[in-house]
Amino acid sequence: MPMFVDTSPPGQCIFCKIVAGDIPAAKVYEDALTVAFMDIGQVNPGHVLVASKRHAVTVLDLTPEEAAAVMQTAQRVAAAAEAAFAPDGITLFQANGAAGGQTVFHFHLHVLPRHAGDGVALAWPRK
Ligand code: 5GP
Repeated sequence: MPMFVDTSPPGQCIFCKIVAGDIPAAKVYEDALTVAFMDIGQVNPGHVLVASKRHAVTVLDLTPEEAAAVMQTAQRVAAAAEAAFAPDGITLFQANGAAGGQTVFHFHLHVLPRHAGDGVALAWPRK
């Protein structure tokens, strides 16, 4: 089981509070529809989450415009990670629903710089 699961309603979840600026986060990018900030549990240095600003829960709840904006933001973040961390690769991953490994129920996509032999094992649900 994950250490922490946030199933709070819209406006009260951790990521809604980060979007609103009510709790601190290291934001690296923001536009009208998305925000990108450092994951508090850095799996590797430069591990960033790209979240919808609106409280969508899963990928199925995104509008087409939000889905496009999320991927554009992820591409920007990946380019920044490439420049800053010179990774050997970059993994994008995204969990939907508890059975899919989601622990914060506000849509987000992980951008994770990877290095050969870093030993990161991505599995769903992550344990
Ligand atoms: P999920 O398991 O839903 O795919 O990912 C949730 C992510 O949110 C985890 O990687 C976790 O480290 C991150 N996270 C949880 N709480 C916070 C927080 O308060 N601030 C930040 N920046 N990240 C968080």
